[in-house]
Amino acid sequence: MAKPKRFITTPIYYPNSRPHIGSAYTTIVADFFARLYRELAYGTYFLTGVDEHGEKIQKAAEAKGETPQQLVDEMASSFKDAWKRLGISYNRFIRTTEKSHEKLVREILMKVYEKGDIYKDVYEGYYCVSCERYYTEKELLPGLLCPYHHKPVEKKRIDAYFFRMAKYRDELLAYYRENPQFLPPKYKEEILNKMKDLKDICISRPVNQVSWGIRLPFDEEHVAYVWFDALLNYMSGLDDKMQFWPPDLQFMGKDILWFHAVLWPAMLISAGFALPKREIAHGFLTVDGKKMSKSLGNVVDPLEMAEKYSADTLRYYLLTKLPFGDDGDFSRAVFKEAHNSELLGHYGNLANRLVKLWHRVAGKAEIEQEGKLAVDECFAKLESLKAKIEELAASNDVESLLPFYANDVFMDGVGAINAYLNEKEPWRLEPSEAEPILRQALEAFLYVSTLLKPLLPASTSKIFSSFGYEPCVSELELGATLSKVKTIPKELFLFKRVE
Ligand SMILES: [Zn+2]
Repeated sequence: MAKPKRFITTPIYYPNSRPHIGSAYTTIVADFFARLYRELAYGTYFLTGVDEHGEKIQKAAEAKGETPQQLVDEMASSFKDAWKRLGISYNRFIRTTEKSHEKLVREILMKVYEKGDIYKDVYEGYYCVSCERYYTEKELLPGLLCPYHHKPVEKKRIDAYFFRMAKYRDELLAYYRENPQFLPPKYKEEILNKMKDLKDICISRPVNQVSWGIRLPFDEEHVAYVWFDALLNYMSGLDDKMQFWPPDLQFMGKDILWFHAVLWPAMLISAGFALPKREIAHGFLTVDGKKMSKSLGNVVDPLEMAEKYSADTLRYYLLTKLPFGDDGDFSRAVFKEAHNSELLGHYGNLANRLVKLWHRVAGKAEIEQEGKLAVDECFAKLESLKAKIEELAASNDVESLLPFYANDVFMDGVGAINAYLNEKEPWRLEPSEAEPILRQALEAFLYVSTLLKPLLPASTSKIFSSFGYEPCVSELELGATLSKVKTIPKELFLFKRVE
């Protein structure tokens, strides 16, 4: 039976600076799931990209003395470069200045307009340039400050087009009820409360105010409000692969959940498309207990951390040490400890110790091709790890998969091999007695390392290239891997100690 598909997305990021730890976090989480579903042989499509229109880009370009196009070209390459260095395995990097995206946005706008869901009116509201959105007075902090940026907002009155979002309130509520996975449990109440007085939403800006955007097909004097433009990247980014529609897992920070949970499905209902399956929001990060800010000098640069430790360390830390969904604290001390004690001490040392012991004690570089190995009882439970991963993945249980990987697969799975070696002490035995023990341990090591591929892609890729054979999780069979490797490396260094 063919496996189902998974269409996984990150938000498209504002390319007005380098990727920061927040966008790296969302992207690494999404990448973990994309790699996991590929390992399980699901048809997987992983989309990320950049949101290149809007007032903020226009202003940033003016400040740099460049055209908006120049700015977004530079920034798009800097994002691509960052994702390469962090091992992000996207299938498609979408830029909203691509012609095919602009064409699709205009088509959908026309469709929604012809349906009667867009009308012209006067808009008055409080606008935050950094959020690129309007707030009502009661959403603002005392002193008329943006609730996210804590900066003053501007009061504006403009001619604009509105999308009849309020019309879809009951349909949205019914969708939430019938699809309990759609909203993240932690933010569900908040969304439902805001739904109580759902209003229509302004979806345009006059060209004389913002020229850097997609013109409305029914009024060229207005450009599409960035959200209407940006959200449609999830459709234009599929190109001709609409068989992946609708999105299965859409990852984002909690600040943009509202647009994904309300505006986005309302747009899709209006335009006549199937709705996404899950919107998944994570919290914000503080650093060592303090809000991250340039003035405090505590901004964490994901690329710097990946350079100093390793890309896998950054990934391991973000995926296993932060409470997914809640706000989390980035602790440099915990980061270093995770690298030195867990990745190097628990896993990296095991890898090197195992292959060195094999060559020293068993004394052979050749592996006998003898088919499936009878697996020691203490490793038999490893098979239940794979079964559990398959089960959690099938039900899209993102919240359980991350701690399961951290505790059961990495800690306990790798721990079982360390415990086995410490108990059997093969280094004290005659080569003929040591060899079967090391075979068991190597087999278990390759098995667990295969499961760990989505969590530690760079290290596991190094392992499998040095063994000359790379299994994937869907084909993994305990006892059948060691016989397929081409060689056993003489040494295997996965992580370097960082002082
Ligand atoms: Zn703001």
